[in-house]
Amino acid sequence: MALTESAPAVPPAAHAPEGGRTATETGAHEGILRRQSLRESAARTYARSLPIVPVRARGLTIEGADGRRYLDCLSGAGSLALGHNHPVVLEAVRKVLDSGAPLHVLDLATPVKDAFTTELFATLPAGLADDARIQFCGPAGTDAVEAALKLVRTATGRSGLLSFTGAYHGMTAGALDASGGATDVRVTRLPYPQDYRCPFGVGGDRGAELAARWTENLLDDPKSGVPTPAGMILEPVQGEGGVIPAPDAWMRRMREITASRSIPLIADEVQTGVGRTGTFWAVEHSGVVPDVMVLSKAIGGSLPLAVIVYRRALDAWKPGAHAGTFRGNQLAMAAGAATLAYVRENKLADRAATLGARMLGRLQGLAADHPCVGDVRGRGLMIGVELVDPYAEDPGSPAPPADPALAVAVQRECLDRGLIVELGGRHSGVVRLLPPLTLTDEQAAAVLDRFADALAAAERAHRPGPPTRARSTHRRNATGPSH
Ligand code: PMP
Repeated sequence: MALTESAPAVPPAAHAPEGGRTATETGAHEGILRRQSLRESAARTYARSLPIVPVRARGLTIEGADGRRYLDCLSGAGSLALGHNHPVVLEAVRKVLDSGAPLHVLDLATPVKDAFTTELFATLPAGLADDARIQFCGPAGTDAVEAALKLVRTATGRSGLLSFTGAYHGMTAGALDASGGATDVRVTRLPYPQDYRCPFGVGGDRGAELAARWTENLLDDPKSGVPTPAGMILEPVQGEGGVIPAPDAWMRRMREITASRSIPLIADEVQTGVGRTGTFWAVEHSGVVPDVMVLSKAIGGSLPLAVIVYRRALDAWKPGAHAGTFRGNQLAMAAGAATLAYVRENKLADRAATLGARMLGRLQGLAADHPCVGDVRGRGLMIGVELVDPYAEDPGSPAPPADPALAVAVQRECLDRGLIVELGGRHSGVVRLLPPLTLTDEQAAAVLDRFADALAAAERAHRPGPPTRARSTHRRNATGPSH
């Protein structure tokens, strides 16, 4: 494909000749990592599991200060739709820099912002685009979530919120409260449908229907203790929650349930947007048109940018209701507009759907040979492999218990082989792949080869074989998206 970068033959890091690295490079790499661990906070995350020092990057490939090269399937936690330093992104950024345009403008109008908004509106689901308003938020996804919550609370005059088990919406107070692990009394957490660990023990369409009925019942039962809320927030595919695609029929049920009760529906597309799941926005799979969309990550073309777009009727908040100094990042808007246009013009969402389905198929093949692979699922290029202990039982779940230690071991073995992957899931047992949408067939094959190799090595080291009196009464299946 002409639109994808050529696939550099990156040697597996562990096998890269040591001679390729000078002592100075290795020393700089180690010194930087040592100083990081001495000076940075205990709250740092990726830096712990990925002890690399990126110095150059292009497309799928990152080069470390030690000269090693890695295939990056973390993609800035899903923000690099076009991979690192894509030429159209660099060109857009350079154009702004060379033009003498101000880089900091608060929320003033600029030609760059105007072009970004036009491009974004051109991608929105019909039915929202015609009637939409946009609010530029502080630069992180979590700030846009806060804005969305404030917007619907102001517009409805209500305070409660519906969210879902396993959700992740960010780290600021309101977004964290809406996420799965929180306990805010204003937030009612509803069951998110999942096939593999279905809370009703049945999975499939039936499990999703039961989840929908639970929601409906809670809203209609005058003694449920759940007054009509200000909104419902959901991820069309839960990312951090373990790559769990919501069934399309369930999404439509959520739309009906909220619409018929005048509850604004907020789709958090921070991670699923810009082609990632095989449609430009993940809500398009189900045809659902939400009232509010929360967007960040890929819309900034690798630079920080976050917005909400919403129906005009909700625009009842007052000037300054959601402010923030850094709402006018011109470079991010230029990089974002270029990314949105490139994904649209080159039909990268379709490409993500096709390639993602093929990768899922190959991963499902792996599941047949590795009992520790409990489930393989995803949508487009948002893929998860849930690792389990197949010889243990979890009385509370229809599936065997997750194996977070094995997931960590697989991540480490991947890194040794020059592959960067992410971990996630409710029980931290899901290995996640979020490659750029520009991934070539050749690169996809290289990613899967390394992953397969890493999985086999981790499994061998971690659990040499079944216990002598092994018993596993669990269903062990490998499912793709059930849509
Ligand atoms: N919503 C979703 C669905 C996310 O995946 C994330 C980040 N992983 C956020 C919100 C928060 O975004 P940020 O980290 O930029 O605050």
